[in-house]
This record gives sequence, structure tokens and C-alpha cells, in this order.
Amino acid sequence: MLSLNDPVLVFTDLDGTLLDNQTYDWQPAAGWLARLREHEIPVILCSSKTAAEMLYIQKSLNLHGLPLIAENGAVIEYDSRWQTESDSPRLMSGVPHDEVSAVLNKLREKGQYKFTTFDDVDEATISEWTGLPHAQASLSRLHEASVTLIWRDSDARMAAFSQQLNALGLQFVHGARFWHVLDASAGKDQAANGLIARYQRQWGQRPVTVGLGDGPNDAPLLKVMNYAVVVKGLSREGVVLPDQASPYVYRTRSEGPAGWSEGMSHLFTPD
Ligand SMILES: [Mg+2]
Repeated sequence: MLSLNDPVLVFTDLDGTLLDNQTYDWQPAAGWLARLREHEIPVILCSSKTAAEMLYIQKSLNLHGLPLIAENGAVIEYDSRWQTESDSPRLMSGVPHDEVSAVLNKLREKGQYKFTTFDDVDEATISEWTGLPHAQASLSRLHEASVTLIWRDSDARMAAFSQQLNALGLQFVHGARFWHVLDASAGKDQAANGLIARYQRQWGQRPVTVGLGDGPNDAPLLKVMNYAVVVKGLSREGVVLPDQASPYVYRTRSEGPAGWSEGMSHLFTPD
């Protein structure tokens, strides 16, 4: 059991975890978010979304100024108070968006693969795909170090495509609704470890880490946490974690933000 007075860091996925998969509502988690803020426990958003869209969401969650991990770890936005970081305010890992995009266009031309990227369509289409209002859909296209796409080809072709990407130093990551292509060296786990080390220097002690996620692409993040909350979700593959003592794993009965809140109530002793 954790105390709200422990040096805790919370890392959380967004869609299907802190936000409802369909409506993007987070109200069921509002009570816990307020409690964590009162105790100055950083809640670090960690998603495949762009930094631009995440900064917008972060503000509406009243978490502005805190670090965040965007584009599956390829982009890290630092705490707004960390002005001393040489790469402040944002750290990019690996291949930039335009280069990933160029590689994808070449592979598509040569292999006749069927997929549609966020760069291929307009805001209205992204609005339709995601259910987001136009203004937010436009933020969701501002990728800096990855490309998001819908796969429209067979599973067998996907395996071949994924292998070709690996050979080029890229990785193909399955998110909640979309697929993402980014540098093979980037990841939510590496990004989280970098931030944990940064907090350890600042706090003078090792942070206790709590991670929350609902999809297979959250597994790398959850594996490097002390406490992992697997929020019940729609993913058919589920979240597979090592059968070891660390991390301590709790699987929720509720979905989305209600599951998020359930996980927090399970991990923390009441005040
Ligand atoms: Mg998710």
C-alpha cells in the first residue's frame, strides 16, 4: 500500500485509461487527480498522441506544467520549471517525422502496401476517425517524431512490412485505434526511465512509480514501474506482463477513468 506522502510518480496512458475510449470523459478520475495534485504527486501523461494535442489535454486535466511523454516515447516535454535542461523544453528521440514519412511513402510505392496515414487525409477525416472536434483533430496531426496510420492490408503483409521497418531502424507499434511508426530506439519505457532519473536527482531519493494503461503498447511502460494498474479495456490481445514480483500488478474491474480511479483507491491508503 502506498501513502499520498510517499515520493510517488504516476505515469498514465490516455485513451481507454484516463479518458473514456468513446467520449474522452475523465470525470470519474477527477477526485483522484485533485487528491494527487494536493499532495504534489506528478501525474505524467504518456501516449501515442502528439505533444501539441497532449498539452491541450494536460491543460484541461489541470496538469499543465508537468512533464509528458508523447508519440509513444519519441517526444518528451519537460516540466516547465526545468529551464536548465540543455534540450528544454522538448526532447526528441531518433528519426524526425518527415523522414519516417518519406520511408513509409517509399515502402508503400515499392510494396503496394495498403495503409492511410494522418498526413494523407484532412482534419475532417481525422475528426471522423477519432470523434474529436476539428480544432483538436488538427493538433493530433502535428507529429514530430512518428507517423500514425490505419492499416488496410492483410496480417501476413503486416508482418512483412513490420520486418522491413525493423531493418530500417524503425518500429511498428499497435495503439488503441491506430498504428504508429517511430524510431526503434524510442519507447514509453525509455522515456519514463529518463524522467524517473531526473526526479531522483531533484528529490534526492528514488521515486516510487505507478503506471496505468489498457493496451498492449502500454506493456513496456508498465514493466518498468513498481506498481502497474491494467485498466480493463477493449484490446483483444490484452496486456501481457512478466509473472514476477515486480511490478506489483492490479487489474481493474471497471473500464476507462472509473478503472483508473479504482486502481488508485486500491494502491493508496486513505488519508
Ligand atoms: Mg490506451
